[in-house]
Amino acid sequence: MTASQAKAADRAEQEAVWEDIFGPERARMDRELAEDIDALIPECIPVMSVSEWAAARRILRTGVTPLPGPYRWEVTPYLREIADCLSALSPVQTVVVMKGSRIGATVGIAENWFGYIIDQAPGPTLFMSGDKETAQSVVETRVDAMIESAGLAHKIAPQSAKVHGKKTGDTKARKDFAGGFLMAVGPRVSAKLRTHGIRYFYGDEIDDMPAEVGRQGDPLALGIRRTSDYELTRKILLTSSPTLKETSRIEPAFVRGDRRYYYVPCKHCGHMQPLRWRHERDGETVYRLKFERDEMGRLIRSSVHYECEKCGGHWKNADKGWFLPRGEWRATAEAEQANYQSYHVSALYSPIGMQSWEAICQEWIGVGHEPLKEKGFINTVLGETWEQRGHAPRPEIVEARKEGYHLGTLPEGARPLVVTIGADVQDDRIEAEVVAWGVEWESWSIDYRVFPGLTVDGDSPAWRGLAEMLQERHAGFTPIMTMVDSGHNTPTVYAFCDRYTSGVMPIKGNIRFQDAPRLYYKTAKLPGYRASRVDVNTDHFKELFYGQVTRGTADGRPPTKPFPGFCHFPLDYDSAHYRQLMAEEVVDEVLKTGVRRRIWKQIHGRRNEALDCRVYALAALFVVQGIRKEGIEKATERKYGWKDFWAELLTSRGL
Ligand SMILES: [Zn+2]
Repeated sequence: MTASQAKAADRAEQEAVWEDIFGPERARMDRELAEDIDALIPECIPVMSVSEWAAARRILRTGVTPLPGPYRWEVTPYLREIADCLSALSPVQTVVVMKGSRIGATVGIAENWFGYIIDQAPGPTLFMSGDKETAQSVVETRVDAMIESAGLAHKIAPQSAKVHGKKTGDTKARKDFAGGFLMAVGPRVSAKLRTHGIRYFYGDEIDDMPAEVGRQGDPLALGIRRTSDYELTRKILLTSSPTLKETSRIEPAFVRGDRRYYYVPCKHCGHMQPLRWRHERDGETVYRLKFERDEMGRLIRSSVHYECEKCGGHWKNADKGWFLPRGEWRATAEAEQANYQSYHVSALYSPIGMQSWEAICQEWIGVGHEPLKEKGFINTVLGETWEQRGHAPRPEIVEARKEGYHLGTLPEGARPLVVTIGADVQDDRIEAEVVAWGVEWESWSIDYRVFPGLTVDGDSPAWRGLAEMLQERHAGFTPIMTMVDSGHNTPTVYAFCDRYTSGVMPIKGNIRFQDAPRLYYKTAKLPGYRASRVDVNTDHFKELFYGQVTRGTADGRPPTKPFPGFCHFPLDYDSAHYRQLMAEEVVDEVLKTGVRRRIWKQIHGRRNEALDCRVYALAALFVVQGIRKEGIEKATERKYGWKDFWAELLTSRGL
């Protein structure tokens, strides 16, 4: 088969699938479109830019935005250049925006661009978000409202009769208009994506997309490849708040571009500078947004100000109305490809009326020392990636943390609130750790036992040993929740857990929640059993535990002053126990698609049961909090967080 024959065969196959889904008429139209647009482009280039179009046509309705009225670029002036890269006249083809939340990007970039496409520069458009529901709800609520208020409703083809069982025209997943369509999909796209030639591709929240979907490979790469039919006129827009440094897609995409930052002038000295939360100066970390607290530790709102990096002059949140319109984008690097521009916008730029500097300081105070919250702050406020501190520390550093108390007891001054157990099931034994938990995840390991016996037999000494452990009191506590690993001898594990009315659940580890990569666990009903199974992303829990156990040990010495997540260990464990606890490390794996993925790997020659037990005991605490949270929120519709959980436990114990 020659190359051109192969191409023709490939095309015929694509067309067959295409027709099957959308019907022959639609297929023919879309096919011709791809051929026509590139040929016609010199004659039909719109003279308007995206920003001109938005200023002329868009009215924002109350309820859709906190800032209703005609669309004004003065509110979010930093978005204007980004939007104009998407204009037909602009030579820029790839636009990357690494961003914090609440900077007005959905209205200012996504909605304006979609309206411009429909009205001014139509073409086949694919909008892919981190999950399908988000993508479709953007179309259903935001895009529909934009179409309505910009007077574009007459351009949208009405929903037509079902063709081959599929609705076409105007649906929440697809809008058809003269010269193109807008299709909203999640990363789990079916084979039909392969058959679409796409002129405009918009990948939103790309850090939430899985590295691979089944045999289809990387969904993002798949979407971008679809634009190759439109070599001259395509536009690729990638936006996201970042997540983990090691697996982020948006950060490397930002780095490949020309790395633009928005410089604004100081109202005192005129010095142009990008807004920064913190930066390094003479080897020290300097915070630019300053605030004070009262004697109760609460934020003094009037104290919040930004300090000019040159003259030290103070700027207030209200000054945004002055300095934002006077700002400009400055590239800080050479892009790796032509026509590729990348932008970074943190929530520090959020316009007046959206997210204030006071709100940001308030959120920072709320972070305290909780790594989970700090990650959220870094990702969504600063728009920066979070570096996992998950590398396995040297076991001897953790061993040096052992304190002056023995198994089954607690050190003086310890104030635990609940006790959980994590049990790891091997073929010939069960190992289990008993962990006592105090406020803000402070933990005391109070027992670790190995019960030998074949675990396939539900009546073996191994299971009898575990059952006894569950009945006992540990440092005065009855265990509130026990997680039993169900990876080995699953039916026996289910049957064991089913003997308890509550508080004992099977756990299944190593689950990656493709649709929600940030999720820690989910529960799954087991048909025929009373207990539900807890499916956990063990990577998240290992990351959390390693963060806790290594915190404050950078100088090779154990920390002395307790902090949230502080881990206490008794005198009795030998070195082997600590080697097991530190049995895994994080390594980078490069997939065939070139996407990097972080995975946890057992260090050669080390057993890891102690680590598994600890991870399950930690997951048990999360499940206890989760059950409580669900109950409270269902009954009262008020939010229930970890703070409420600790407060409730303290009260119930009369502390
Ligand atoms: Zn200044």
